[in-house]
Amino acid sequence: GLNIENLTKRFDDVEVLKGVSLDVADGEFVSLVGPSGCGKSTLLRIIAGLEEQTSGDIKIADRSVAGLRAADRNLSMVFQSYALYPHLSVAENIAVPLRMRRLTATQRLPLVGRLMPGARIQADTISQDILTAAERLEIAHLLDRKPGQLSGGQRQRVALGRALVRDPAAFLLDEPLSNLDAKLRVQTRVEIAQLHRSLNATFIYVTHDQVEAMTMSDRIAVMMGGRILQCDTPEAVYDDPDTIEVAEFIGSPK
Ligand code: ATP
Ligand code: MG
Repeated sequence: GLNIENLTKRFDDVEVLKGVSLDVADGEFVSLVGPSGCGKSTLLRIIAGLEEQTSGDIKIADRSVAGLRAADRNLSMVFQSYALYPHLSVAENIAVPLRMRRLTATQRLPLVGRLMPGARIQADTISQDILTAAERLEIAHLLDRKPGQLSGGQRQRVALGRALVRDPAAFLLDEPLSNLDAKLRVQTRVEIAQLHRSLNATFIYVTHDQVEAMTMSDRIAVMMGGRILQCDTPEAVYDDPDTIEVAEFIGSPK
């Protein structure tokens, strides 16, 4: 499981997270919803190791990840913006986490240089893992293309492929569908739900879309002003909100 214990985060004088605690069981799908600026992305980035908390702890499988770099935490993050390397092919983009994981911390620095334009990742032992992930996401025919030659939906699949190839214990997805058109959103939502079921991995899924949160989640965490106000099943959050703030945000009947 994933245990978030009393996390706080301060940027200069502003406390953006004010003591966030959340326990997510193995295989559970938790959606994180809340108004813009309430701290959802900050929370995910801290869990992923891309940002450091001010206080509090995060445990994965009962072990604190304090001091572990992002590449060494057993989880994958998917961003709204895809965050692909434009100069690398689809296959090379998917390969990046495998390469990062294999290298020790001191070896990683030169790698960043090698990922500059023109860099090539050798097609060695990594190729089968990449092919498996690509086939699963139906992008195996696109492995030689560059991100600039792909549609938004295809780019998001590459980002998902890159997350998948690490075979992580947990996936952190920050509004992964918000750049897709309505039809593709629905399609990709269904595919992410299928992926979750077949992998039995833990998912934390940030979304502004109530329908996504209601239909995909085991539980929904409602966040506001740097706190999680309620984390409960979709039915409970909708039918039995703890506070007026939750009711108003979710749009529960009064
Ligand atoms: P949205 O739904 O719009 O994506 P969010 O819930 O993801 O919003 P965050 O991106 O986590 O919100 O931001 C929470 C607050 O922290 C905001 O007020 C934001 O301005 C602030 N913040 C985020 N990153 C930084 C930073 N690097 N330095 C200073 N303030 C920051
Ligand atoms: Mg955000």
